[in-house]
Amino acid sequence: MTAIEQAIRNTLNDAYGLEGDIRRLPGEYDLNFVIKAASRRFVFKLMRADCDVPFVEMQIAALQHVGRSELAGIVPEVICTKAGAPMVMLADGGGDQRVGWLLSFLPGTLMAELEAWTPPLAASIGNLLGRLDRVLESFDHPLLDRVLKWDLRQAGWISQHLDSISEPTRRAHIKQISARFVRELKPRLDALPRHAIYNDANDMNVFVSGKGDQLEASGLVDFGDMIRSPRVCEPAIALAYAMMGPADPLARGVALARAYHQAFPLSNEEAALLAPLVKVRLAITVANAAIQRAENPHNRYLAVSEAPAWRLLDYLDAIGDEAFEAAIRAACMREVEPSPRATKTSLLARRRIVALGNQSLFYEDPLHIVSGRKHFLHDADGVEYLDVYNNVPHVGHAHPHVVDAVTRQMATINTNTRYLQEVHLDYAERMLARLPAHLSKIVFLSSASEANELALRLARAATGARDMLVMDHCYHGNTTGAMDISPYKFGHAKSLNAAPDWVHVVAQPDVYRGIHRGAGAAEKYIDEFRKILGNIERKGRKPAGFICECLPSVGGQIVLPPGYLNTVYAMVRAAGGICIADDVQTGLGRLGHWFCGFEQQECMPDVVVWGKPLGNGFPLAAVAMTRPIADAFARGPEFFATFGGSSAACAAGAAVLDVMNDENLQARALKTGEQLLTGLAELAQRHAIIGDVRGFGLFLGVDLVRDRARRDAATVEARRLMNRLREKRVLVGLEGPENNVLKIRPPMSFDSAAAEQFLTRLDEALADIS
Ligand code: PMP
Repeated sequence: MTAIEQAIRNTLNDAYGLEGDIRRLPGEYDLNFVIKAASRRFVFKLMRADCDVPFVEMQIAALQHVGRSELAGIVPEVICTKAGAPMVMLADGGGDQRVGWLLSFLPGTLMAELEAWTPPLAASIGNLLGRLDRVLESFDHPLLDRVLKWDLRQAGWISQHLDSISEPTRRAHIKQISARFVRELKPRLDALPRHAIYNDANDMNVFVSGKGDQLEASGLVDFGDMIRSPRVCEPAIALAYAMMGPADPLARGVALARAYHQAFPLSNEEAALLAPLVKVRLAITVANAAIQRAENPHNRYLAVSEAPAWRLLDYLDAIGDEAFEAAIRAACMREVEPSPRATKTSLLARRRIVALGNQSLFYEDPLHIVSGRKHFLHDADGVEYLDVYNNVPHVGHAHPHVVDAVTRQMATINTNTRYLQEVHLDYAERMLARLPAHLSKIVFLSSASEANELALRLARAATGARDMLVMDHCYHGNTTGAMDISPYKFGHAKSLNAAPDWVHVVAQPDVYRGIHRGAGAAEKYIDEFRKILGNIERKGRKPAGFICECLPSVGGQIVLPPGYLNTVYAMVRAAGGICIADDVQTGLGRLGHWFCGFEQQECMPDVVVWGKPLGNGFPLAAVAMTRPIADAFARGPEFFATFGGSSAACAAGAAVLDVMNDENLQARALKTGEQLLTGLAELAQRHAIIGDVRGFGLFLGVDLVRDRARRDAATVEARRLMNRLREKRVLVGLEGPENNVLKIRPPMSFDSAAAEQFLTRLDEALADIS
């Protein structure tokens, strides 16, 4: 037994009348001992030699204050001496007198000892802290206004100690957080009301009780960091710890923030500061650890949170400040009582009332997405999904450069093409510069349906003819005219309209599961095309044009046979028609090798239509055409679209081109696409359900079959796979006439790590459904 333990044993005996085992616990400065006496356990706290008595008095007063509230039991009880004193002085054997005090031992497990933390556990911490702060609001003590490095209001000290972080990238990271704190957060924090807060909900101070899903925060110890500060600092610190560790940090952060807010509502300004303050706390943790490590290289306890704090900072960096802040703010926007308006069930119920029955939702368990960043989406519970499906956010969800360009344009002027506008002409010139020279005119619209509608009118204006050749299963839009040329729609079992008599459907040259397969199939499709063209001529008519998707998407992510379009385009032109390429899904570098989808077929369309990705979600579509076609159309009435080519839309389009260049996204699509193709081919060796893998860049299809020889579509299995992947937080779609083709078409930010993650989850999901 050490001298100090002997001194404690004597004190316990003399002052408290207690006798028992003494065991030391780890701690930062003060010495804590567990005392096992008869059937009870206690903690004896022996303060450092220079500890002020008022500092202990503050903690004792706070514990007693909480002990008198509805929260009695969540904090240790202060045990007084036989003479009624809450603390004692004792000689520590080293010549110093130290303050000691005795507390009851809290039941439960330390949160730090749990293997995994879940959102419900985080929520219970938020709830406990919210209730605690309600109680502490009426607590006061002069020392609450002391200077403390863990007080978020005083985080300015970090900027003086950046040099202690030796690694330059990390130092720059902390410098950025610290600079924002000084510039923006500190003044905002200083303007908020302050009261006593606990200020230290780290995993070494939070006790949990219960089991499995019922695990919840049941106790708090160590009130030594109490301070008078804006109360948002309380959940901010708790979030910094609860978000450390793997598996959905954001979900835990959101759960904790929401629960705190429900227990003790934050103002809008407090809620807005919560997420940024989490990063400030993490910066304090890593800066402090760096300093301590330099001074005390052997004390592991001092730097125990350092590595997880860095990991969390990197994770938050990957999410991006905007998405993190939006998710946390949204969590605090709820009413004090959870609003029935916000649950998924109620959203579905409201949707049933206002939306049409044939407006569908993805997945058996539909998603309530509230934010996105790059190729990640976040739902209302803060759960993150890997987006392997959405191409509209071409350069990544909520890309700041695009958001900024549109916002600035909207805040300046958003008008139309009846006025001279640089932004319109700049964008038009930039787009035309990326196209073959014969496409020299361009019109902007607000949807691809509208663009295809115009393409149809162009064909008729240029040829004076009315008949159109269309490819089976293709889709060109939701307007009346676009529907008429979309076999995917009029061919649908539920369609009210058959194909109009001026529409002639050619087979989709799918050499894997179409009517002609394997060697010689391409020629057979071409022969059939010739026959259909002949049918039009036999009726004494000529075609206005032929339209198809460059790589048919809803048709099943089909790669047309080499040379197919070139050959049929020549036939169409010989018959007097024009050739329209619908490049809505495949344009803008998605295929990796080519900027335009039709380049894959080495053909030259007369009209090209783009949509979806152009504005990164801002409504923007385009039709490029040859000069003669434009001239023929210009002989008709004025063409005007109110929103087509608006200043804000053109600003969005130009910003997308900027990002494509700056982030080299076409080259990335090529590289990531090759990684995906290799990985998928490897999966095909192990999973017999994979019948075919096809596509280029970030436009890929995986054809799922029940039997490789017969190639019958694994429709039911494909649906199960898609839903299983959704459960694994990976979002894909299905395409093809039989809905058995996995559609891989993510934002162009999709990188090697995302590809790896996708392939791993797909491998697991394939095993799960087999
Ligand atoms: N063409 C193709 C190939 C498409 O995929 C779509 C949309 N899915 C459209 C046209 C119509 O686009 P929008 O919904 O923007 O009108």
